[in-house]
Amino acid sequence: VRWTEGRGWHDAELVPYAPLSVDPANMTLHYAQTIFEGLKAYRRPDGTVATFRPEANAARFQTSARRLAMPELPAELFIAACDELVKQDKAWVPAHGEQSLYLRPFMFAAEVGLGVRPANEYLFLVIASPAGAYFKGGVKPVSVWLSEDYVRAVKGGTGAAKTGGNYAASLVAQKEAADKGCDQVVWLDAVEHRWVEEMGGMNLYFVYGDRIVTPELSGSLLPGITRDSLLTLARDLGCTAEEGRISTEDWKRDTENGTLTEVFACGTAAVITPVGTVKSRQGEWTQGGGEPGEVTMRLRKALLDLQSGAAEDTHGWMHQLG
Ligand code: PMP
Repeated sequence: VRWTEGRGWHDAELVPYAPLSVDPANMTLHYAQTIFEGLKAYRRPDGTVATFRPEANAARFQTSARRLAMPELPAELFIAACDELVKQDKAWVPAHGEQSLYLRPFMFAAEVGLGVRPANEYLFLVIASPAGAYFKGGVKPVSVWLSEDYVRAVKGGTGAAKTGGNYAASLVAQKEAADKGCDQVVWLDAVEHRWVEEMGGMNLYFVYGDRIVTPELSGSLLPGITRDSLLTLARDLGCTAEEGRISTEDWKRDTENGTLTEVFACGTAAVITPVGTVKSRQGEWTQGGGEPGEVTMRLRKALLDLQSGAAEDTHGWMHQLG
């Protein structure tokens, strides 16, 4: 679908996957006016296909568009585009369980010009790719590096939007984490470098027995849809779920005194991923003996069962496509 100043959204079409041609002065290449989403379509036991909370992705896409001075795509158009592609690619939705068809809706400036200003033309596209189970051979805890030298986002910046620049800025820290022997970066707040925010592509949860806590939406972390869903699902399972502030000192101390029993990350791609070893300039520690925790695995199963159709959709989160 194309958006042009004065005309709005027009010319929606479903076309075979193919390269786009790009003008060297395309504004996106220079000024990074680009936003995206990620969601999955699952095959249900009865053979039908459903996406998980697409209206939440549509709403976040609008928030991202506003922050990047881009036109808002109506939610119905966002969902219809995803639906059409899933229907077309239905054969590619794997048969069940953790496997899915990953959808990547995105929008970028399509105007040619070298002036720094919001573009007068945009393209919105959706592409898809089958996604296997995130973990081959069972769920394994990830090791994380607490990044103190780099920040992902600041208040008033673009951290709460899903825009390419946030990811570009995070790559050097991801490289640093890999050099330290870790799988993922954990981002801290930009002012005190102390308050835990999120990971590269996942939000975090801290498990204190049957109370789970996720960092509050500070304005500089992405409001994850999995994070939001777990606040509700955890309550369904009899846990207390809340938003709060967790510092790196809390993390280390509470692990050592045994009150912080598990830590996990969550997101569309990885669903729920236990955190094992934590490395930082202050030292190194390990959650739960490096094994996936009980609450983590219970929540993981509840979420996957709901998405794959093995459990009842009591919250009306699945968008059924037939
Ligand atoms: N934080 C960041 C930076 C992400 O890229 C993602 C993935 N979209 C998440 C958190 C998790 O969000 P969601 O649960 O909506 O996938």
